[in-house]
Amino acid sequence: MAIPGNNLELLRNALSCPLSYELFEDPVTEGEGTCGHTFENSWIRAWLDENQTCPLSREPLSVDQLVRYSAIKEACLILDPNRVAPIVREQFDEINAVITDIGARVLVSEAVHHSLGQRVKQQIEWAKEKFQGFCC
Ligand SMILES: [Zn+2]
Repeated sequence: MAIPGNNLELLRNALSCPLSYELFEDPVTEGEGTCGHTFENSWIRAWLDENQTCPLSREPLSVDQLVRYSAIKEACLILDPNRVAPIVREQFDEINAVITDIGARVLVSEAVHHSLGQRVKQQIEWAKEKFQGFCC
């Protein structure tokens, strides 16, 4: 399902680091008991070298409270056209080609079955007519 343009922009913003404004590559989130913001790993580490607080809320924060956020990382991979998307598109094209080919074969085989079926029916009708008098 395609995501409408405006929503895509909102999604992109939501999946961007509030420090670097870039789409997350290695997102980490503040662990339990914190305000729970998410940042790009290298950017928050650089910030925490100089500060002991969350850059957004100014609540106390240390490097050991950061945890990897793999779900967000995967979401960003899908959104970033320079990373996974071209590969996915290629795979879709390949899969589509296979499906189209199978579809064409099914149509051909249905047509063959249909014409065979018609011939069998015709022969049954012919046989019925021919042997009508011999039955019971
Ligand atoms: Zn925070």
